[in-house]
Amino acid sequence: MSDSYDAIVIGAGVIGSAVAFELARSGKSVCVVDKAAGPGQGSTSSSSAVIRFNYSTLDAVALAWESFHCWLDWQAHLEAASNEGLVSVHNIGVAMMDVPVVSLERTSELFDKAGIDHRILDAEGLLEVVPTIDTGRYWPPKKIDDPAFWEDATETISAMYTPQGGYVSDPQQAAVNLADAAKAKGVDFRFKTEISAIIKQNGRISGVQDAAGTFISAPIVVNVAGPWSGKVNEMAGAGSDFTISTRPMRQEVHHVSAPKSLKNPPIIGDLDTGVYIRPEIGDSLIIGGTEPECDPFQWVEDPDQANMSRTQELFDAQVTRAARRLPDLLVPGSASGVVGIYDVASDWTPIYDMTDVPGFFVAIGSSGNQFKNAPTAGQLMAHLINAVESGVDHDENPVHFECTRTGLTINIGTFSRKRAINEASSGTVMG
Ligand SMILES: Cc1cc2nc3c(=O)[nH]c(=O)nc-3n(C[C@H](O)[C@H](O)[C@H](O)COP(=O)(O)OP(=O)(O)OC[C@H]3O[C@@H](n4cnc5c(N)ncnc54)[C@H](O)[C@@H]3O)c2cc1C
Repeated sequence: MSDSYDAIVIGAGVIGSAVAFELARSGKSVCVVDKAAGPGQGSTSSSSAVIRFNYSTLDAVALAWESFHCWLDWQAHLEAASNEGLVSVHNIGVAMMDVPVVSLERTSELFDKAGIDHRILDAEGLLEVVPTIDTGRYWPPKKIDDPAFWEDATETISAMYTPQGGYVSDPQQAAVNLADAAKAKGVDFRFKTEISAIIKQNGRISGVQDAAGTFISAPIVVNVAGPWSGKVNEMAGAGSDFTISTRPMRQEVHHVSAPKSLKNPPIIGDLDTGVYIRPEIGDSLIIGGTEPECDPFQWVEDPDQANMSRTQELFDAQVTRAARRLPDLLVPGSASGVVGIYDVASDWTPIYDMTDVPGFFVAIGSSGNQFKNAPTAGQLMAHLINAVESGVDHDENPVHFECTRTGLTINIGTFSRKRAINEASSGTVMG
């Protein structure tokens, strides 16, 4: 293994592996370093891996739509010789409940522009898609010990439905697929290697040093460290010109048996009660939260010190909220599920950007919503890095990425570290 590369990627999660794959495809020699023992063992491993297109900006919608086409054509995307061990998309559609913080009209407008098939369902239409759903409007979400939680709805709810979208059932394996594809392009992976210093010479990146003191040289370092991204930025001395900050946040996702009456449901995004519901293989459901205001945010100072055990309290809250929407759902007595950490950006929109440290790039702040975008995030990061390294001033003239599958154009400047806060953001995992 060499000790000198064109680029080093810190983090072998689903996005880091995608960035490495695309940099290698563009002709660069690449080394990926990760303190874990294999690909996708950071926040990727606990991802719900939901694929939907509802975002608050056209560029974010385009990113999700292009990426979806990569997932659909996964073997070709990876240039893999066989489909053995490759993940696949469960393309079951998405029903997103109407709430005040996300305008259906605005989403519809963005979907029209991107060419995404969709329709707005009233309560009757919603029942055609999910016959056992409760069509009550309960906004705002409430704590389950609040008597108002149990009040009957006085209005019905509508929803944005896309027949496309769904989930990948094994997010960690998706990262393994990308890492294998990167290895096939010559990328070296160094696991159980924790980076403790980023080295500069005359202000420019010259490499990284691991905790054992080994130096790996490269003029380009990409921070794809997930919830640890803040620490890695500090090592590089980057961050002082960021208008958008990132911060780790603890999350729980719960696992329950699906009610027998629930047949072929789509993904149900339900900010109205404060949860999302995703089918899981084995006739079960996974239920995650959508940051309802009534639940305090669980910020963590250090991802390595976070409590990684699920709690009965949050299990009861999330599963009971889901049971409000799916009344046949039984709330089991004992908790089951996973704990994960989001890397949350101030406006729940990722940062895909250069920095003021020459040679140091970031793909961070993925805010619990970028698993689905990993394939195209890798492509746009490689495109951005190659443009900036060939002299383009991305801060002044934002680089654009032409999507090959959908024909859409993404302005990478939308994901700038120096952007104005995205006021259209829902302020939740929805972005
Ligand atoms: C509970 C949960 C549910 C989610 N649900 C969805 C969803 O439904 N849909 C969706 O699109 N997205 C979802 N996401 C978000 C998505 O999973 C993440 O955006 C994505 O996995 C981030 O990938 P990554 O490669 O950036 O980071 P990670 O997977 O966190 O990888 C970062 C890697 O960096 C390594 N690292 C960190 N510091 C160092 C260091 N100093 N030296 C060496 N290695 C280091 C870590 O070991 C880790 O492997 C969810 C996330 C969570 C936590």
